[in-house]
Amino acid sequence: MDLGLKDRVVIVTGAASGIGKAISIAYAKEGAKLALADINLEGLKNLQKELQTEVYVEKVDITNADACKTFVDNVANKFGKIDVLVNNAGTALMGDMETFPEEVFRKHAELMMYAPVRLTNLCIPYFKKNGWGSVVNTASIFGKQPGGLISYDTIKAADIMITKDYSAYCAPFNVNVNAVCPGPVDTPLWHADGQLGDQLASATGMDKEAAIDWFAKTNIPMGRYAKPEEIATATVFLSSVPAHYITGVALNVDGGMVKCCF
Ligand code: NAD
Repeated sequence: MDLGLKDRVVIVTGAASGIGKAISIAYAKEGAKLALADINLEGLKNLQKELQTEVYVEKVDITNADACKTFVDNVANKFGKIDVLVNNAGTALMGDMETFPEEVFRKHAELMMYAPVRLTNLCIPYFKKNGWGSVVNTASIFGKQPGGLISYDTIKAADIMITKDYSAYCAPFNVNVNAVCPGPVDTPLWHADGQLGDQLASATGMDKEAAIDWFAKTNIPMGRYAKPEEIATATVFLSSVPAHYITGVALNVDGGMVKCCF
């Protein structure tokens, strides 16, 4: 199937690692031109070398409103247009409900809730100019059923509602807005030092990799984590031309982990 993404200009946030990196590779394979943002510039530059397409990279902390505006302006100046926005950058944390610091909650809301809104608003004028556009938000199944920390679940639920609200707002000017809701995905968010694997290990008393494996076997019907490429497939599909009539959905890619059917 021709996804119609050749020469489309695609912004991906959090592109230096994990899901964002896989998403960028998948768009490059479709012939899209890429504008990649992350706080990890070295990771972006390494990825840029791998990609066989035109790629613009910029170190952007998306919690900074001015930096987001500068980035979007730079992308538009470089490519002359913006077609697709993938709001992917984020993080996760395990912790204690009663003692979880409020400032971390706020920081995560800045990163995973306000930044996608900000970037969507910055891109909308370009979509209107094109007469076409697409937004895909990386939410989580924990926006549908609890499973992460309260901050994470709440923010990801907000991402799903943000998706729905923008889908209605943007439909009249031919822009679709969808969310992908991954279950656990095999990325550095689990394996890197200090990340979820270590936090799970200290909560269970198991070795890190054993704890990561145990979590999948006990929680995911398919018994394994998603590969980042499997999240990328859903993201690229939702922003493709043949899928443009699909809008306002929050698509689970979770090996059957969500218990409800919406
Ligand atoms: P990851 O840690 O591998 O990658 C996240 C990327 O975001 C990193 O490159 C990081 O540098 C970047 N980033 C963090 N803060 C940033 C900021 N302020 N500005 C710009 N970039 C920033 O994580 P991942 O697993 O690929 O997660 C990507 C998204 O998927 C996140 O939104 C996460 O919540 C979501 N998600 C992940 C899983 C999972 O199990 N891995 C499951 C569901 C949803």
